[in-house]
Amino acid sequence: MTLGLRKIILLMLIGSVFLMANIVLVANWLSEKGLPDFANHIRSNYLTGTAITVVVALLILLVNPGKAGTARCFIRRCPVCDRRLLGNPKYCSECGSNCNS
Ligand SMILES: [Zn+2]
Repeated sequence: MTLGLRKIILLMLIGSVFLMANIVLVANWLSEKGLPDFANHIRSNYLTGTAITVVVALLILLVNPGKAGTARCFIRRCPVCDRRLLGNPKYCSECGSNCNS
């Protein structure tokens, strides 16, 4: 974690604290702008159960392409002898090959 990232997180934390302190004011302002009616319109027309299910299924099926073959359900196998590796070893105990390549 870099220093810039820490500063951004701290600023977001301070902003969220100020927002939480004035939550009634923010809710009244959003209600004046008509946001709850718009959100109800969106929810009733576009967010059906089927759409939510499809989006969740796609998010589950979406995997990082670089890790698709190696890290399947936290069970890793040696790329040389196909022995199952427990934990996160650097070398295979069966054939001694480097597993982190
Ligand atoms: Zn091996």
